[in-house]
Amino acid sequence: MGQIRKLIIVMAMVAEARPFIESAGLTKLDAPFGNCLPMQAYAGQLDGLAVRLVFNGTDPRFNVDNVATQPAALATYAAIERFKPDIVLNAGTAGAFKDAGLEIGEPVLATGSVSFHDRRIPIPGFDRYGKGGYPCLPAPNMVRALALKTGTISTGNSLDMCPEDLAAIRENRAVIKEMEAAAVAWVAWLMQTPFLAVKTVTDFIDNHESVPEQFDKNLALAVQNLGTCLKQMAAFMNNRDINRL
Ligand code: SAH
Repeated sequence: MGQIRKLIIVMAMVAEARPFIESAGLTKLDAPFGNCLPMQAYAGQLDGLAVRLVFNGTDPRFNVDNVATQPAALATYAAIERFKPDIVLNAGTAGAFKDAGLEIGEPVLATGSVSFHDRRIPIPGFDRYGKGGYPCLPAPNMVRALALKTGTISTGNSLDMCPEDLAAIRENRAVIKEMEAAAVAWVAWLMQTPFLAVKTVTDFIDNHESVPEQFDKNLALAVQNLGTCLKQMAAFMNNRDINRL
């Protein structure tokens, strides 16, 4: 597969992307995916590595960020088609289990495979399809060099968590819960492009504090740490053999 020369970073929210865009000095591309899609793209170099950052933009009806799975899948497809990257990295924020020993603001690199926890289809074959399970590129050298925490990510379309979701997240052995990674991983898998995900923790899902309140309180710290981590990851990846990440 060769060396890593071009990286796509896929993000959901402008608040997650903005500080990194500014500190990395990325430049906005005009209508990167035509005039109908709300997704935004930025381009630049980080330590010589070509970086294209895509985020999902704003819903024109509801005037909020296009979070969750279908915008993430669409953005990933459009970005892989246009930019032909060597690797796709889904970056963002997430909830975590406190009992997994993770801290607020801490980046976690996804390992193993990424599954869905809310696609319940109890028909043989469709049950496994619903769960998904799309591979993350192993990156043991990067984990070691950057002292990254690792964990399994589980994806669903809700910020809250019903008992069935919780059971499925536990069954997926996930410690991180968010709303995009499995969709991005699915498209990357279809398009035969290696996939990584890194998420910084904005909230704990196993305490009694409200998730939206924790999210608002911790977003700035999580996003700042995410940007720092992305720069370190980009520097590490540049020109490295993809099989030796
Ligand atoms: N802006 C809203 C939250 C947006 S949705 C607010 O102010 O409350 C949450 C976004 O952050 C999604 O893109 C999702 O991937 C991620 N996220 C953070 N914590 C999450 C959690 N506990 N469950 C699911 N997604 C979470």
